[in-house]
Amino acid sequence: MVISEYSSTAYRQIIDTVQEAVFIVNGNEEIEYANKMASDFLKVSNDELIGTCFNDFIDGFISDNQCRFYRKGNNNQFYGQIVRYNLYENHDCIIVSECNKKLHLMASVFESTKEAAIILDSKGIALLINQSFTEITGYQLNDIIGTFPKMLVSELQNDVFYQSIRDHLSLNGYWKGEVVNYRKNGELCSILLTISQIVDDDSHYYVAMFSDITSIKEREKNLEKMVQLSSVFPNRQMVIESIKLFTRDIRYDGVSILCVDVVGAIDVYGTSVKFKLLSIIKERLERLLSASDQLLKLDNELFILMCEGLDVTDLITSVIESVNLPIELNQQLLSFTCNVGVRLVKKSETINGDELLRQVEQTMVRASLDGKNTFAYFDVKQNEVLQHRLMMQEEIKKGLENNEFILYYQPKVHMKEGKIEGFEALVRWNHPTRGILAPGVFLEYVENNPLSLLFDDYVFRKVLQQMSEWLPHNIEVSINISATTLEQSNFIDHLVELLQLYPPINPNNICIELLESTSINNIEYVTTLIQQMKVLGVKVALDDFGTGYSSLTYLRLLPVDIVKIDQSFVKEVIIRPNDFIILEGVVNLSRSFNRMIIAEGVETLEHERLLMRLGVQRIQGYSVSRPIPSDKVIPFVLSFTPHKEWQQIKSIDRIYFPALLSEIEHRAWANMVEFSLSTSKLNPTVCRFHQWLHNELERSSDKREQLMKLEDYHQFVHQQALSYSQGIISIEAFKEASNALLAHLEAFFDKL
Ligand code: C2E
Ligand code: CA
Ligand code: CA
Repeated sequence: MVISEYSSTAYRQIIDTVQEAVFIVNGNEEIEYANKMASDFLKVSNDELIGTCFNDFIDGFISDNQCRFYRKGNNNQFYGQIVRYNLYENHDCIIVSECNKKLHLMASVFESTKEAAIILDSKGIALLINQSFTEITGYQLNDIIGTFPKMLVSELQNDVFYQSIRDHLSLNGYWKGEVVNYRKNGELCSILLTISQIVDDDSHYYVAMFSDITSIKEREKNLEKMVQLSSVFPNRQMVIESIKLFTRDIRYDGVSILCVDVVGAIDVYGTSVKFKLLSIIKERLERLLSASDQLLKLDNELFILMCEGLDVTDLITSVIESVNLPIELNQQLLSFTCNVGVRLVKKSETINGDELLRQVEQTMVRASLDGKNTFAYFDVKQNEVLQHRLMMQEEIKKGLENNEFILYYQPKVHMKEGKIEGFEALVRWNHPTRGILAPGVFLEYVENNPLSLLFDDYVFRKVLQQMSEWLPHNIEVSINISATTLEQSNFIDHLVELLQLYPPINPNNICIELLESTSINNIEYVTTLIQQMKVLGVKVALDDFGTGYSSLTYLRLLPVDIVKIDQSFVKEVIIRPNDFIILEGVVNLSRSFNRMIIAEGVETLEHERLLMRLGVQRIQGYSVSRPIPSDKVIPFVLSFTPHKEWQQIKSIDRIYFPALLSEIEHRAWANMVEFSLSTSKLNPTVCRFHQWLHNELERSSDKREQLMKLEDYHQFVHQQALSYSQGIISIEAFKEASNALLAHLEAFFDKL
């Protein structure tokens, strides 16, 4: 057949009656023939159709045999089902029938939606896109159709991500999520993408639809940034400025500043939800305030309220109540608590906004330590103490840098052997303006603070340096170490490092004193430390023994070499029977655990005598020497002469400890007689001394004579006490009798 034959009127009439559009195209896809329906479909005259490329009318494929056509004159595309078969040589007959209504409708939805849409075949090759796709991505039909669309895949997501999409699709038939990709012009864009799998009879397709969420994402990011930034500087500065203004011209007696910290699971939500929650709370707080008050948002969950007047009791209650009111979110009730810090600013006060904000925040933190829904008022006095503390710490730090701290040394002696056993290093602050300061003045600012690490390190180095100068004299030195230093995990390593600085120093000449109270928290840990120190050859002493709560436990468990009996028991032991009972107990215990004992705070010969009687030979105290400057130590060692009494005083057997106690009791009683405080005990037969004498007489008949003599003295003392209380004799006469008894008792002990 030839073309003229198709165009012959007869054929035309037949083909024109067909309800489908019929095209005959040549090898170049140029239309050589089109029927009337074809012109009707495409709204193009037959003359125009002839010679035009068939593909020029196609706008895209929905599937291999369904495509969208351009319609001339309006934007109204139509969808057609194509059947193509070869007529002869290079000529094809293409029959296009309009798609059914449903498909058409679907297609028009596809077109009109604001979402970008793209249809892909089973291999992911693009068949069709809509107008929104072009608008969002910048890609035209020609760029996309027949290709594997780059738009949906980029290196911004990794292979694992894409594989997870494929897995989800094959399992569920759809996937939804956020993806970041490039537009045609190279710009980044975030899309919210839904991919659905559509299964046809024999094959399947994918419809991917997405919306551009770049601006939303950017807004979110900005919001996040703003929230972050506001917690750092600009917003804070703004709050400070507002506080400054608010406290400048105070009208009434003063103003109140409240810092409200909202507590609850706010951070678990995204920025926008978080923002919403905080806005709701902010609105509620705003409702509590009057027109002249002010509400500001500081940091993430912090609000600052400022109001006139100094009575905010009701306001605090309302603030807590309104924060506590639940908030509904996604059919869930969320509840929050808060902590409130209050700073009352009196009219007379002048203080800057910066400081006020800091103070009210600190107060809020203090309130939060008491639990939920708590409040606290800023305490001016407490603040002064705190400020002073900070100032002192600063000054001490500088003092350490300037080498202002020096060490004094107090000798430890063995009385019976009459020799110095070592010295305890005791720090002093050689203050540039205040002179030499004792540790009681400054140590409290160092304790329980990282500063004590610096401090102890300073002291340790100074001691080592000093010891290296004293090497020929082989002097043992005790060093006090704070709990903070001891608790450092690298304590032992650091100790080793320090010891390595001066290898000639014998670690055995170093004794580390740990406070008994230090060990309370972690007895196992401290035990290990002590063992490690002993391996290094360093001695360990338990300082201030007896002051803790469980002294006996420590004594039993801690493998210390030395126990230093706290001076509080020693100082008054000669006149306080209770102290003697404790001292005696500690001495007995230390002995049974095989610990060396040092008594601290030994001030007089009487102390020395009592201790020696008890068998405590090692002492430290003013009776031997006060702490002395380092340059006095060697002269002290060289000129040291033991007290001559040390040779004479003997320790006594335990069975005579009750006698010691009755002696102390008598001394205590004698002191009270002077002030007529204890006339009730004037009867000598109820006195403990009498009871001891009585028992002793029964027990040891060989000492009968001495004991009877003592009893005479004892009776005489009581008689004199009575005479003194009746005003017959002077106090001196009474004391003489009392001292005579004590002297005879001592003589009795000496002869034992
Ligand atoms: P401590 O370790 O119990 O030291 C003994 C304290 O008692 C010293 O006070 C000493 O001067 C004083 N003392 C000694 N004998 C007598 C006495 O017979 N009567 C009286 N009333 N007091 C006596 P100091 O030097 O004022 O030290 C007080 C505390 O400060 C020390 O008590 C110790 O816990 C601490 N300390 C001293 N130097 C240092 C140091 O370098 N580092 C550390 N971390 N703490 C130190
Ligand atoms: Ca000590
Ligand atoms: Ca001590």
